[in-house]
Amino acid sequence: MAGAELHIDRIAKRFGAGQVLRDVSLEIAAGEFVTLLGPSGCGKSTLLRIIAGLERADRGSVRAGGRQLDPLAPKDRGLAFVFQSYALYPHLSVFDNIAAPLVMRELSSLERLPFVGRRLAGSAARHRSIDDRVRRTAKILQLEALLDRRPAALSGGQRQRVALGRALVREPQIFLMDEPLANLDAGLRIHTRGEIARLHREVGATTLFVTHDQSEATALSDRVAVMFGGEVRQFASPVELYRNPVDLDVARFLTQPF
Ligand code: ADP
Ligand code: MG
Repeated sequence: MAGAELHIDRIAKRFGAGQVLRDVSLEIAAGEFVTLLGPSGCGKSTLLRIIAGLERADRGSVRAGGRQLDPLAPKDRGLAFVFQSYALYPHLSVFDNIAAPLVMRELSSLERLPFVGRRLAGSAARHRSIDDRVRRTAKILQLEALLDRRPAALSGGQRQRVALGRALVREPQIFLMDEPLANLDAGLRIHTRGEIARLHREVGATTLFVTHDQSEATALSDRVAVMFGGEVRQFASPVELYRNPVDLDVARFLTQPF
């Protein structure tokens, strides 16, 4: 699964009197791991939600893999979104939680088929392919031994891996992750950070990761976009950011104790 390049071109967004994004542009290469880093309220989540199609920009455009995403519904954009608060289905097993996005997609396409007979004819093959994909995903995330468990019987880190699995199983070209580690305690955060890095090496999907934690950003990223007040101030590799911060805000933010 190769990633797709992601072009964000002059995105602007206002909520009431507040200009939340001011002409944000980013060119992200296929397979690159990019982090949006900045203080709370600087517009990171809003930008991610616009890319995902969950929010509409006032101006600007988003392209991925040569396609204009702006007119497309979220489910047609070929990307997967992992949130900070991930709600798993408590009554379903790990297997069924990971399979859920595929099953839902099947159900909505089945409803478009005109004949009941055709629905039944195709279903066995469909189930096999869902089974294969869930098992492949579980293997990458080392969840194979936990497929029969309910979420209540998992640790916080295991639950977060299931949430990642649910995004990964759709084989997205692009991953959007909004502070996926924020609810974990310090030890688990470092461990799950390693899992995300490994996932990125193995799967190669283009990843846009959001955090307000500079150590997370520098540990994971090919490049970091540092945001303040709805603007990208600097977009560079972690090494370049520390060597040559463009201004005092960037320099202070990178060196603050966390
Ligand atoms: P971050 O993720 O960097 O913390 P957000 O993108 O969540 O920042 O928010 C940026 C600004 O936009 C904040 O001032 C926030 O209060 C405001 N904002 C976000 N979503 C909405 C909304 N739906 N309605 C009004 N204001 C919003
Ligand atoms: Mg946010």
